[in-house]
Amino acid sequence: MVVGSGVAAISCAVMANLKTGDHVLCVDKPYSWTKKLFDQYLPKFGISVDYFVWENQESFQSQIKANTRVVFLESPNSLTFELQDLGAIAEICKSKGIISIIDNSHTSPLYQKPINFGIDIVVHSATKYLNGHSDVMMGVICSSQEMIKKIFYGEYMTLGPIVSAHDAFLAIRGLRTLPIRLEQSDKTCLQLFHYFKNHPKVRKVYYPFDPDAAQYDLAKKQMSGNGGLISIELAVETKEEVNAFVEKISKFMMAASWGGYESLFLPTLAFYDIPGWKNPVLPFQLIRFYVGLEEFDYLVADLDAAFEAIG
Ligand SMILES: *Cc1c(COP(=O)(O)O)cnc(C)c1O
Repeated sequence: MVVGSGVAAISCAVMANLKTGDHVLCVDKPYSWTKKLFDQYLPKFGISVDYFVWENQESFQSQIKANTRVVFLESPNSLTFELQDLGAIAEICKSKGIISIIDNSHTSPLYQKPINFGIDIVVHSATKYLNGHSDVMMGVICSSQEMIKKIFYGEYMTLGPIVSAHDAFLAIRGLRTLPIRLEQSDKTCLQLFHYFKNHPKVRKVYYPFDPDAAQYDLAKKQMSGNGGLISIELAVETKEEVNAFVEKISKFMMAASWGGYESLFLPTLAFYDIPGWKNPVLPFQLIRFYVGLEEFDYLVADLDAAFEAIG
């Protein structure tokens, strides 16, 4: 089922399966508006939430309550790309009658197929890879016919998150090139991983296919590719240095979102020291990059210049 945004896909899938008094177990550090749905919106209807970090079956199971009705996953999650074991979680959920939902936007349906691991509902922000041209907002909900019917006659018809005919036309255009776009972003992102991994000014690289990463084996088991997202922590101590680096970048655009043809980056620092806001839990040295369709050499020349600024 196609809806008006990724967020609409998330909220329709979630709300269709909850009622007053229910509890949600959600992965730690999900997409920001997913967190706001659980922290700020659903409590108005008497629904509670806890967040979990995936370690193993036992620790996961210990956080399930008698009233847990939905488990919400994002694997890899936003910004730091932690994975959850989809097969293990689906099995536990099935045994307890809990609906499992995953936000699968990071990998697209080409690089990870959660329904094959037993997950009940898969949602995508089609604003990202599926449309792929940064000119449409759209979301997708994938599940059994029975579940889709339930969401259609419930949240979809009641709340009305429709898609316009023109946006549908644009998204179909985008879908036709999804495999080659994704492959190109994935290939260049892997090259960028090696570049960052060996760079003295990078303290840490977040990339699921890093052979040194604790979850490398899990990534290989459930993902067939990564796509264009990668995060780093700069090896600097001050916000001024992060700012000097960021200001030098010109070929990646500083912007939210991702999944289109153009490379983007999002520094955590942009969310620091905003009057009336709490500072993020993530360090100000963290920067998420999205690699689009440009050539590797073109992007790296830009980053070389930025690293020189903090040399
Ligand atoms: C962008 C994003 C969303 C929200 O999608 P919209 O189409 O912008 O509403 C949800 N989840 C993840 C992981 C995202 O990156």
